[in-house]
Amino acid sequence: MIEYADRTGAVRTLPDAEAEARVRGDDRGHVFHSWSAQALIDPLPVAAGKGATFWDYQGRPYLDFSSQLVNLNLGHQHPDLVAALQRQAGRLATIQPSMANDVRGELARLIAGVAPDGLEKVFFTNGGAEANEYAVRMARQVTGRRKVLSMYRSYHGSTATAITLTGDPRRWANDGGDGGAVRFFGPYLYRSAFHAETPEQEAQRALDHLEQTILLEGPATIAAIIIETVVGTNGVLIPPPGYLDGVRALCDRHGILYIADEVMVGFGRIGEWFAIDAFGAAPDLITFAKGVNSGYAPLGGVVLSERVAAHFDETPFPGGLTYSGHPLACAPGVATFEVFARDGILERVRDLGSRVVEPALRAMAAKHPSVGEIRGRGLFWAIELVRDRETREPLVPFNATGPAAAPMAEFAAAAKQRGVWPFTHFNRTHVAPPLIISESDLVRGLAAIDEALEAADARVG
Ligand code: PLP
Repeated sequence: MIEYADRTGAVRTLPDAEAEARVRGDDRGHVFHSWSAQALIDPLPVAAGKGATFWDYQGRPYLDFSSQLVNLNLGHQHPDLVAALQRQAGRLATIQPSMANDVRGELARLIAGVAPDGLEKVFFTNGGAEANEYAVRMARQVTGRRKVLSMYRSYHGSTATAITLTGDPRRWANDGGDGGAVRFFGPYLYRSAFHAETPEQEAQRALDHLEQTILLEGPATIAAIIIETVVGTNGVLIPPPGYLDGVRALCDRHGILYIADEVMVGFGRIGEWFAIDAFGAAPDLITFAKGVNSGYAPLGGVVLSERVAAHFDETPFPGGLTYSGHPLACAPGVATFEVFARDGILERVRDLGSRVVEPALRAMAAKHPSVGEIRGRGLFWAIELVRDRETREPLVPFNATGPAAAPMAEFAAAAKQRGVWPFTHFNRTHVAPPLIISESDLVRGLAAIDEALEAADARVG
């Protein structure tokens, strides 16, 4: 029997069918869910979480290979983060953004301290979409230009500008929110839009294509280019060597600001504070959220370069939020820095990624005919599934739903049966567990994915 605390703090035991029925009933009756046809979903009632595991009301544990929405970097109920949140609630639960506050200021200083040189100021938001919204607004104010370039195969959030910049089907029903969005193809060697055969060719041809796009759109009309440093939900696409430096050079040549969206990859996911440290020159603006405080309270933000910040020294910034830099969100953010330093989180992510995950995925790629490619870094990997390794036909069609998506649903069900909650998107599953996952859990979860891939193999050919 597993103990859990209910909403009142009373200790109860799992399984708890009565509580499950109540939670499910309230949810189905009254909660309107994101991105879903409401009548077609059955959200899992979750009773408790600890570290890399959460439990349903039947007492079934799931090893979270998705870190919820790739935000739970330090896992469930991390004692340091919980204590920071509780302490802050006890001393000053809220304060408006135009006043100076100790945890808000400390977190901003800590973030600036790990950002590339020259990015010194932080504007806090409530999440990642808003961070991108404000970064774009800043770029437009600074340059006096309107257009923003973003990639096909990207996700930047669901608010008006962020969703219009998004290069995946979540945009389709929301198009038109922002007239200045222009999309281009980024590097993706496995499905190269440029018929490239090497990472070098892919980088160069993707840069040539971006330059053409800039020239044809009119450089003097473009405020910013926004790029996920490692494309997240749309495939864990690691930029080939030289690509992001090339983007920086194009931006400099044409007076365009470079926004690095690090909402998913920032704060340790690939074993760096900011992923840009591994791949390229400093951007003008970095957006972050998720891992900054593992989502213990909503928080995101924009890190500004001196040039962008200086523009607003004498000119007021036209934007703000009631909860910008909320102390209950900033306190677990400060604790996150303490935990990362004390527990060597970045080092362990790099170590587990190269020593445990990569070899395990390579072995899966060798064994399973459904695995087309594996790619990633740190604790952020994709397994791209195909029907045919020769043609690279995806295991399910792009944006498949219903019966067409069945092969991926079967894989996900097989993983869940083995106690692993997988991240799946289109024809991929991603390996993105909390960064504090124990090595034995990581090995166990990878073994479950390995077994579940047999469901995908059955659909090959
Ligand atoms: N940018 C990226 C790269 C993301 O992955 C996400 C969310 O998944 C967002 C922006 C949007 O963040 P939020 O959902 O906090 O608004």
